Amino acid sequence: MERVFYARTHPFAGYYSGYKTFTTVYRVPNLSHNKTFRYHLNSINGTTNQADTISRWHQRGVRIFISLQPFFEMTTRRHKETVRNIYERLYQSIGPLKWWPADSPFEVIIGAILTQNTSWTNVEKAIKVLKEKNLLDPRRLYSLREKALAQAIKSSGFFNLKAKRIKSFLRFLFEHYQGSIDRMFSEDTETLREKMLKINGMGPETVDSILLYAGGKPVFVVDAYTRRILLRHGLISEKAGYEEMQHLFMDCLEKDAALFNEYHALLVHTGKHHCKKQHNCTLCPLKGLTRRHRVAMAH
Ligand code: SF4
Repeated sequence: MERVFYARTHPFAGYYSGYKTFTTVYRVPNLSHNKTFRYHLNSINGTTNQADTISRWHQRGVRIFISLQPFFEMTTRRHKETVRNIYERLYQSIGPLKWWPADSPFEVIIGAILTQNTSWTNVEKAIKVLKEKNLLDPRRLYSLREKALAQAIKSSGFFNLKAKRIKSFLRFLFEHYQGSIDRMFSEDTETLREKMLKINGMGPETVDSILLYAGGKPVFVVDAYTRRILLRHGLISEKAGYEEMQHLFMDCLEKDAALFNEYHALLVHTGKHHCKKQHNCTLCPLKGLTRRHRVAMAH
């Protein structure tokens, strides 16, 4: 007797893990590698029971047909709707935030490095000092001694480390682009991103902030607020990494720098005012957004 089973993914299983699982499982329709099958099924359902049961059926000769396509499509559609819905709600309620507050792309770059592990108020103080000393210029900052730079940005916290990082960025700028910000941003975005990620102290959030807010490149910026909001609404799993979260937005939205600019700013605003460690959903524009609104979880 032939029995056919359909394995389901949860509609809100991690978007990317869902995709990978679908493609891999679909390529092994005969399920000759139970171990592989079990691994993938576990990653779909998050439980071992169902995988073990289906594995046993398979060993007894039951033919199992894995069809995740409808569920995958449903997941994609739902994610798209939800990701757009989040933006609509936040934009309608909070309005345009017009980021990044700076007079030049170079100021954005310096601000993006200075804002690591500190509040924006402290960054503003450091930027003010740099402006007063007429140092907010690539060439002048490049020729300034690291110790003097550290003193100038003291209010931003971790100033020795940040002075080192700014210097590393400036070395990169001068060695690859003769100190020209315009020349740097004329580079292909992917190539530039890869290169910048190799600069000392430049993680994906800093690099993407620079690409988006200084370079006007359509690259979505993810931060701790984004992660918390996605997690609390069941749009990602606990294990989701930076790239997965970034792709969730970049695949669900048009590649539009202005949209990414506004969206990230709105998420940060929401994180700061509503979705804090102790969430305050009552006045949050995202209240009741998804059925799997896991507000009880203290992330
Ligand atoms: S505060 Fe509540 S409604 Fe708002 S984003 Fe966080 S979990 Fe969602």
